[in-house]
Amino acid sequence: MTDFLPFALPDVGEPEIEAMVAAVRSGWVSSGPKVKEFEAAFADAIGEGVEAVALNSATAGLHLGLEAIGIGPGDEVLVPTWTFTATAEVVRYLGAIPVLVDVDPVILNIDLADAATKVTAATRAVMPVHFAGFPIDHDAIAAFAATHGLAVVEDAAHAFPASYGGVNVGAGTSEATVYSFYATKTMTTGEGGMLVTRDSELAQRVRVMRLHGINRDAFDRYRSDKPAWHYEVVAPGYKYNLTDPAAAMGLVQLDRAVQMRDRRGEIASVYDSAFADLDLELPAGGGEGVGHAWHLYVVRLPAGGDRDAFVRAMAERGVGTSVHFIPLHMQPYWRDLGEHARDDFPVAAREFDRVVSLPIFSSMTAEQVQKVVTAVRKTLTSGGGVG
Ligand SMILES: *Cc1c(COP(=O)(O)O)cnc(C)c1O
Repeated sequence: MTDFLPFALPDVGEPEIEAMVAAVRSGWVSSGPKVKEFEAAFADAIGEGVEAVALNSATAGLHLGLEAIGIGPGDEVLVPTWTFTATAEVVRYLGAIPVLVDVDPVILNIDLADAATKVTAATRAVMPVHFAGFPIDHDAIAAFAATHGLAVVEDAAHAFPASYGGVNVGAGTSEATVYSFYATKTMTTGEGGMLVTRDSELAQRVRVMRLHGINRDAFDRYRSDKPAWHYEVVAPGYKYNLTDPAAAMGLVQLDRAVQMRDRRGEIASVYDSAFADLDLELPAGGGEGVGHAWHLYVVRLPAGGDRDAFVRAMAERGVGTSVHFIPLHMQPYWRDLGEHARDDFPVAAREFDRVVSLPIFSSMTAEQVQKVVTAVRKTLTSGGGVG
C-alpha cells in the first residue's frame, strides 16, 4: 500500500518553501509587510474594490464577520445543515442560535424556500456555503436577504477562485465573504483565512478584533510617528492574526490559484467522461455563467447503494475518499441543540447516505487520475458499493 493515493494533498513546492524561508529571514516572523501584501493581492484578485483582511483561519473570519455585523445573544442565523461545523459554531461563539436549513438536491447548497419558512423576528443573517466550490447565485441570495432584512456572511471556504454570472464570489453585495487556506483547500497557507468585504467600517472592525481589540497592529506601530510602544485597546478582541511566513506562502499560492483550479477542472472532465456510463450520479458541473472552483468532486451512489462498502472497496484498491458532509443535524451537539430528527432535513438526510468525494487535488498526476477511474469502475462493476 506504499502507493496509496490519499484523498487530498496540498500542492506546495520549492517556490512556496523559498518564499517562507525569505519571510523568516526578514525577521518578520509574526504579522508584518507580507500580510499586507497578501491582503492587497487577494483583494485585487476578487476585484470590485473589496478590502481583504487576513486571518489565521476561515473559522476566525466567519466569527469576526458575524461579530462585526453585531450578531449577539438571542439572534438567529440561517445555516445550511450541509456544511462543516465551523459555519455554525461561530454563531454559538457569539451566543446566537444557528437555525439549520435543508439544501437543494442538485448543488447541495442552502434551499432558500426552506430558509424562508425558518425566518422569525429574531433572524439577523444568512450564511450560504459555496459547497464543493460550486458558486451560489448571488442575486438570489441578495434578493432573499433584502426580502427578509438579513445580512449575508458567505462561507467561501471551498470557493477560491469561483464566479457566478461573471462576478467573482466575494465581489457581490454580501456583508462579508470568507475563504479558507487550510492544508487541503484550493490554496493553502498551512492554516489561514481571508475575509473580504466592500464595507470599510466592517473591515476595520475585523482588523481590530483579530488582534486583541488593539486599534493598530505591530506593523502600523512600527511605521507610525507615534511612539512604537503606544497602542489602544478598544474591545476585548481575539488572537486571529496570520503570520508573514504563512502570507508569503499564500502569495505564491495566489499566483498559482487559477492554474491549480484549471487542473482540478481538467480532472473533473476526465471523471465526467470516464464515469458517464456508470450507475452513478455525477456532480453538477460548469454550465452557463458558472465558474466552479472544483474543490470537491462528489459522486452519488444509486439509492440503496452501500456507500460505506464503496469507501472500503476504494481503499482496498489504494484510493482514499471522503464524505462531505455529515449533515450538522446528525451531529450530537447540533441535533440536541435544535432537537432535530434525521428527517427534519429530508434532502440532506437522503443525500448523505449516497455521497462520496473522490480525490481532485491539483498535484495529481495523470496516472493517479487513471488509478481513481479504474478503482471506481472496478468497484461499481464488481458490485461493491451498489449493495
Ligand atoms: C474548511 C472549512 C471551514 C473552516 O476553515 P478553517 O480555515 O479550517 O477554519 C469552514 N467552512 C467550510 C465549509 C469548510 O470546508
